[in-house]
Amino acid sequence: MINKHKGRLFVISGPSGAGKSTLINDAIKSLKKFHVSVSVTTRPRRKNEIEGKKYRFITEEEFDSMINQSMLLEYAEYCGYKYGTPKMFVEKEIENGNNIILEIEVQGAMQVKKFMPEAYMIFIITPSMHVLKERLHKRNTEEPHIIEKRLVTANSELDYQKYYDCIIVNNDYNEALLNLRYILKMQAKNIKD
Ligand code: 5GP
Repeated sequence: MINKHKGRLFVISGPSGAGKSTLINDAIKSLKKFHVSVSVTTRPRRKNEIEGKKYRFITEEEFDSMINQSMLLEYAEYCGYKYGTPKMFVEKEIENGNNIILEIEVQGAMQVKKFMPEAYMIFIITPSMHVLKERLHKRNTEEPHIIEKRLVTANSELDYQKYYDCIIVNNDYNEALLNLRYILKMQAKNIKD
């Protein structure tokens, strides 16, 4: 059962290049009481990324130490690097009545689903693998060999769609944005416009 005074946890997954981050950031601009969790990762920082905004970039040793101290809500390896959600922020904010969004890949999402079945799970996809490939090349944040790796991973990630509460197809951006915003608002149950 959902406690009215607590916030809710939202998990959003989908292949790399499906447009998750942009959609999430735009969707919560006009929604109160929504925050996106900052992950830790061992992946190197991209040129346009700011430390502490979407990620804290940490070493393998720091990551392992966080695992050993049970500081991560979930974690997984993705295309050779580790990614995880610090537990304390999520627990504190939910307790304070804020809704928290985790933008995470499918293995981590399955861990969350198991331990927090009340979390609402959203999967974002592109209309086809062809479109996904085009978008990954166009955004130009990874080398071509990394893009190939991400496309292979994307294929296996699609098998997990069935474990999610809803699927949003990011074909027309504005339509996908409206859908995401509506779903977040309806499922949060503790916010008004
Ligand atoms: P990117 O390297 O493109 O930023 O992220 C690669 C994948 O890792 C994406 O699918 C992203 O959603 C996922 N990811 C980001 N943060 C986390 C996290 O904290 N935990 C897990 N399991 N996956 C994450």
